Amino acid sequence: MGAQHETLAFQAEVKQLLNLMIHSLYSNKEIFLRELISNASDACDKLRFEALDNAALYGGDSELKIHVAFDKGARTITISDNGIGMSREEVIANLGTIAKSGTREFFSQLSGDKARDANLIGQFGVGFYSGFIVARKITVVTRRAGAEDAVRWESAGEGEFSIDAAERAGRGTDVILELREGEDDLLSTWRLKSIITKYSDHISLPILMKKEEWDKDKNEYVSKDEDERVNQATALWTRAKADITPEQYDEFYKHVSHDFAAPLAHTHNRVEGRQEYIQLLYLPAKAPFDLYDRERKHGIKLYVRRVFIMDDAEQLMPQYLRFVKGVIDSADLPLNVSREILQESRDVKAIREGSTKRVLSLLEELAGNEDQAQKDRYTGFWKEFGRVLKEGVGEDFGNKERIAKLLRFASTLADTDEESVALADYVARMKEGQDKIYYVTAETFLAAKNSPHLEVFRKKGIEVLLLSDRVDEWMVSHLTEFDGKQLVSVAKGDLDLGKLEDEAEKKEREAVEGESKELVEKITKSLGEKVKEVRITHRLTDSPACLVADENDMSANLARMLKAAGQKAPASKPILEINPKHQLITRLKYEEARFDDWSSLIFDQALLAEGGQLEDPAGFVKRMNEMLLAMTLAGK
Ligand code: ADP
Ligand code: MG
Repeated sequence: MGAQHETLAFQAEVKQLLNLMIHSLYSNKEIFLRELISNASDACDKLRFEALDNAALYGGDSELKIHVAFDKGARTITISDNGIGMSREEVIANLGTIAKSGTREFFSQLSGDKARDANLIGQFGVGFYSGFIVARKITVVTRRAGAEDAVRWESAGEGEFSIDAAERAGRGTDVILELREGEDDLLSTWRLKSIITKYSDHISLPILMKKEEWDKDKNEYVSKDEDERVNQATALWTRAKADITPEQYDEFYKHVSHDFAAPLAHTHNRVEGRQEYIQLLYLPAKAPFDLYDRERKHGIKLYVRRVFIMDDAEQLMPQYLRFVKGVIDSADLPLNVSREILQESRDVKAIREGSTKRVLSLLEELAGNEDQAQKDRYTGFWKEFGRVLKEGVGEDFGNKERIAKLLRFASTLADTDEESVALADYVARMKEGQDKIYYVTAETFLAAKNSPHLEVFRKKGIEVLLLSDRVDEWMVSHLTEFDGKQLVSVAKGDLDLGKLEDEAEKKEREAVEGESKELVEKITKSLGEKVKEVRITHRLTDSPACLVADENDMSANLARMLKAAGQKAPASKPILEINPKHQLITRLKYEEARFDDWSSLIFDQALLAEGGQLEDPAGFVKRMNEMLLAMTLAGK
């Protein structure tokens, strides 16, 4: 095959990332070791999995392990594993590019704020490159299991890397870091061991280092030709909860999730009974940048009796909990289980149901906690993942009620604009005689908050939930009831305040309706095809008019969203409701010459107020200016 020397350029994003990383992660530089050990462990997992079908890959060496060594003279640290190794193509792809989608967007999100950027970088899964925080040059010598030839990858982390043919005694990978000036403190058994126990104790394979002994004559430690295990080397999830420290739980999370930040919370259980499995599931603290990317990988690693089977086992968690990361280790599934089998398997279905319930319990625990710190954690969770959880209302019929209780909303009575009100809070402070839960949907929070439809509710002190997420419309179409109370849009159908309206108000309304009959007919005629109906309303106190959707029609907000997404929306006309007490409306009774202009103007502003788009904006402006001018002249 020959030497096959090649020099290749890093993908542009890798170059950018290398610079950034060295700067933003330097304050926590020890993590390079955690990342390289994490990769070594993943490589061993992959080998064990491939060897299920092809035991020959072990080639007589089935004791998987990781070795960490250093050389004071050469100023190098070497991390070795006898895992799957990499072929030439794999080396180029894995250590020269970032294969994740959304790389560009990721870079546009970086702010220059070190702490924030460090978190983002971590999310991006750049473990290998973190070696450059301490190394001025990295050499990787690797040999793919089952292959004869090895490959040497070398780079100073400055735009390019070289690839050469190489030799290696067996399969696996050595990562050799040639340290930068000033990093010599890392060249010590004690230092490396303490980093390993701090960050990598949870690794289930043995991490070995050369044993050292005190030499009385030399008056220093000398290394023996004998290995010593540094970590516990048992799968963390199989240990008893009491034996696992919070730090170990956190570090394990970083390993399985490839996240650099600590998780928000976890749940760890051994399930026994018809199905036997262990689940260790985490809620991340921050949403990944590609949470809404449908192609995105999921976060559950599947093991069967400690043997790694696959990453991203999407069958083990419903879509709306796709942010959950962790491990599920089944005692019952066959080792040769494939994604296809997972899809069909009833056992998997049972595991998914059990795991879903666990995650919901964990969320309930955070949400329902009286302790303020815990409550804040739920608030943090909601901010990051609330929108995804909302999908569950329509996706998971069986758990709909539990999910509904976890939802948080912005509301007219909340003291913050954030989504903070639970449906149970709403119900607890419903007005005497109120039997419905009211909400308004709009494209933006401000449009919802200032919607004219809220006027009568404000006046009567009735709470209205303000929904402005895209997913909200869809969510309320599935959530029609909570705690026996109907959820009702304030912008749909006839306003029925039921017992919230007193007798005197009802009488007055009927009287006004009679008086305005003629006007209503006139406006209806004038607007023609634009409206389904014109009617008197008592929804409004300050605005002259508003639009509502008919009871069974799609809400205007949803229709707009569908159109914006390029989908078809049924063409349903709005109902124009007018406020008979408003001066502009009472004035209309006496208008003759410009009646059509006035009614158009009123319709158009009602449409604008709810975030709609005018069919003829220029016509609207012209009409309005003419009328303003007429008023100005009249006033002179
Ligand atoms: P991640 O671990 O999140 O995928 P890394 O930057 O840590 O990202 O590693 C990039 C890729 O390089 C890995 O996904 C893996 O395919 C490959 N790799 C890194 N280290 C090793 C190793 N020791 N053995 C085999 N493959 C490795
Ligand atoms: Mg990694």
